[in-house]
Amino acid sequence: KEERIVVLETENAVLHLKLAEYQGLAGRSTNEVLQLYAAHGQQMKFQNSVVTQLHGAIKKRLKQDLKSLHSFALELSKDFQRQSKTCLYQVLAAVQGTQLQNEAMQMFQIKAFDLEQSLQEVTERYEKEKQKRKALHNSLIELRGNIRVHCRIRPLLPFDDAAGHSPDRQRNFSEKVAHAADDETVVVKCSRPGHASVNKTFQFERVYNDLESQDAVFADVAPLLTSLLDGYNVCIMAYGQTGSGKTYTMLGPQLEGNLAFSIEEESELGIIPRATQEVFRLISEKPPGSYWVEVSVVEVYNNEIFDLLAKDSCGKVFGIKRDVVTTREGKSDVPLLTHETVENASEFLHLVNKGLQLRVTHPTLVHAHSSRSHLVVTLTITTVVFGDNFGTLWEDEQTSQRLNKEASFTFPQKMRDSKSTSSSRASSPVQLEATEKMKQVKTRLQLVDLAGSECVGMSGVTGAALRETSFINRSLSALADVLGAIAEQRAHVPYRNSKLTHLLQDSVGGDAKLLVMLCISPGQKYLTESMQSLGFGTRARQVQRGQVKKKSFPVPSKGK
Ligand code: ADP
Ligand code: MG
Repeated sequence: KEERIVVLETENAVLHLKLAEYQGLAGRSTNEVLQLYAAHGQQMKFQNSVVTQLHGAIKKRLKQDLKSLHSFALELSKDFQRQSKTCLYQVLAAVQGTQLQNEAMQMFQIKAFDLEQSLQEVTERYEKEKQKRKALHNSLIELRGNIRVHCRIRPLLPFDDAAGHSPDRQRNFSEKVAHAADDETVVVKCSRPGHASVNKTFQFERVYNDLESQDAVFADVAPLLTSLLDGYNVCIMAYGQTGSGKTYTMLGPQLEGNLAFSIEEESELGIIPRATQEVFRLISEKPPGSYWVEVSVVEVYNNEIFDLLAKDSCGKVFGIKRDVVTTREGKSDVPLLTHETVENASEFLHLVNKGLQLRVTHPTLVHAHSSRSHLVVTLTITTVVFGDNFGTLWEDEQTSQRLNKEASFTFPQKMRDSKSTSSSRASSPVQLEATEKMKQVKTRLQLVDLAGSECVGMSGVTGAALRETSFINRSLSALADVLGAIAEQRAHVPYRNSKLTHLLQDSVGGDAKLLVMLCISPGQKYLTESMQSLGFGTRARQVQRGQVKKKSFPVPSKGK
């Protein structure tokens, strides 16, 4: 036990020591803690003061910023107000402007409507006036006569001096025996040896003296072309002996079978080129595309028709014989005849020139002089009329009815044309479809340079020349017979007695307009021929006057 106590006391002492040691340590820690606490307190104090300082500064700064922001916002809103005000003004002004414009627009609309209405009225009135104009023009032409005769006396020319074959060598052949007394009267001084000379006068619708120009002649022809576009067929033919100026009057001065048509020669151009120019001029005044023009050129020689525009397989032009037939509708038609579409007068002249050259050179047409055949240049004008518009184009009832009838049967012809390759106007399927809604009317202008009407005696003439002469005589007699039958208003007009009259059937008689241009050589040498031509003209002129007495029509004498 004592030992045990000693051990325990020792242990107790150690523990005391340890306690003391720990107590010392604890004292130090407490100090340190206290120190730290104090330091902490100081730091806190410091921090607090910094925070307060910062807070103050931030507060102050914020206050400033807020103030400036506020003023800025104020400024901004003021600015915005100002701007929106001006915008508002602008919008208001714009709205007012629009209102004004609307009003103006309405006014304009009303005005446009009024104008449209008056335009429609004017158009209607114009259409009516146009119809009236057509009707008046036609009555004017009819008053002048559907068949009228003009007479042109050419100047004396150097070749008139040649004595010729007359046995009477005492005569002064170049003496001028025919002259124009005024613009309706021809006076011919007829003298026979041993008799006193007598003056014979002839009256025509118009007489041109030897000084009158091609211009003057055409001026009287032009109104007929208006009739042409109004739907009437027109024929203009030159009648007279060889050398009397037929070709000069119809075509113009010719240079080796070639139509001279340079600019300088323009004033010399004859009726055919001028008429074509006029036709194209008249067409240019119409709505585009409603008219087109086709040309054919034929020669009637020895009662046979030659197509002067026919082409061989190589495209070279050569004359082909054609025939003339009467269609079921009673019109004359030349099957397979070449029709070339032309767009203007120069294309036309080019074609006619080709035909004329052929007239001179073609081997089957061997005739010494072009005056031994009839030249017929035909312009076919096709008018396209849409739907029911037909009546308005020709308000004049008769014409309208007549053309309406014709239109319906010319229609299949067009369908055939549009499919044929020979037609120069190719049609697309669309066009074909369109054609079903339109009608077509064809009118014809036939321009004829007749063969010389001289009274060639048949005695002593043989072979080809005899044949030629007899054919010319027969065809001119047939022409005279046709005019005679029309004059006497016979039911039957013998158009088919010769190819010439058959070919001209549609443009001679009925309401077609015919102008016969008598060509007269003024010299004594041609007295007989001139008298014969004047007789023919006088007789033809009576056709429309109804003054025809039953006497035979003067024709070229068939020999002595
Ligand atoms: P046809 O055709 O009737 O046989 P042409 O027209 O060939 O006659 O005329 C014969 C000649 O007379 C030609 O040289 C032509 O130039 C000329 N001639 C005809 N008429 C006139 C005229 N009015 N003015 C001038 N020369 C003309
Ligand atoms: Mg001639």
